[in-house]
Amino acid sequence: MSKSKSSESVKVVVRCRPMNEKERAAKFERVVSVDVKLGQIMVRNPREASANELPKVFTFDSVYDWNSKQIDLYDETFRPLVDSVLLGFNGTIFAYGQTGTGKTYTMEGVRNDPERRGVIPNSFEHIFTHISRSQNQQYLVRASYLEIYQEEIRDLLSKDQSRRLELRERPDTGVYVKDLSSFVTKSVREIEHVMNVGNQNRSVGATNMNEHSSRSHAIFVITVECSELGVDGENHIRVGKLNLVDLAGSERQAKTGAQGERLKEATKINLSLSALGNVISALVDGRSSHIPYRDSKLTRLLQDSLGGNARTVMVANIGPASYNVEETLTTLRYSNRAK
Ligand code: ADP
Ligand code: MG
Repeated sequence: MSKSKSSESVKVVVRCRPMNEKERAAKFERVVSVDVKLGQIMVRNPREASANELPKVFTFDSVYDWNSKQIDLYDETFRPLVDSVLLGFNGTIFAYGQTGTGKTYTMEGVRNDPERRGVIPNSFEHIFTHISRSQNQQYLVRASYLEIYQEEIRDLLSKDQSRRLELRERPDTGVYVKDLSSFVTKSVREIEHVMNVGNQNRSVGATNMNEHSSRSHAIFVITVECSELGVDGENHIRVGKLNLVDLAGSERQAKTGAQGERLKEATKINLSLSALGNVISALVDGRSSHIPYRDSKLTRLLQDSLGGNARTVMVANIGPASYNVEETLTTLRYSNRAK
């Protein structure tokens, strides 16, 4: 794979959320600035500032500041990827970042508010609008929803939420989740319903939903099958798959004091996020002949949607305030490497 080709297929963008009320009330200093035109994020380290240190500058494919609208991200960054899925290619959108920086806002947003809905509901609208306007194609849209928690896979659409699923591999179809349920959906309303069911199941068994979602990866998968009568008189089928991934929080989990289950859990979260970083940076680099997909469930599961003809967008979410500066820099370094 040539360097230019792989850098086209993997995009890394950064989004900085606004200060929240608490941060404004506490008058936290804003240490992040965003230059949309240059695609640059600048971070002042509040401690280094006193020593006259220059701000750290990072450059990305695109950057979005606190004024950015959901629809701007969709039109500029996500829409082309979803269009390629409608043409039969695979695509993956990741939201990466420390807990509280806007991963779920970017992915789901506020669903009943058209202005603030995120990429998942916007992609529903996009896909079904495209289908309703098509004339000579027949479409079949299916949805699955799963979660990876501590390297275990749970089907969020299954009746039995205590069951764990296994990854399998077949020479013809590649890696898949054995027995993962999928539902045919014929409208935005139907696919939204599937998502609601999954979200409800996700919170089942979680004593603290915030904590649970910060430690697990949620993957909503939309498969779009299109059949079309070719000039040869035969029916041609193409299948594209869209993976929408709300990743576990990237904050350093293994703080001192973590022991037993907690430490084991922390190690596994770090493992899948670092495996993902390694895969993406190997793809972007383009010179590696070995892409380490096998290092985590997440990367194995998404193997057919990362690299090759697939497109990937990673949105790195950050917060603007001074007390987050260490995590913000860690996120920017991770994403910079993935770029
Ligand atoms: P995460 O999923 O990364 O833990 P959330 O998406 O839950 O973070 O965001 C934390 C809070 O910040 C939520 O209340 C969310 O509505 C708000 N928020 C995040 N990003 C934005 C944004 N770009 N604009 C406005 N509010 C945001
Ligand atoms: Mg979240």
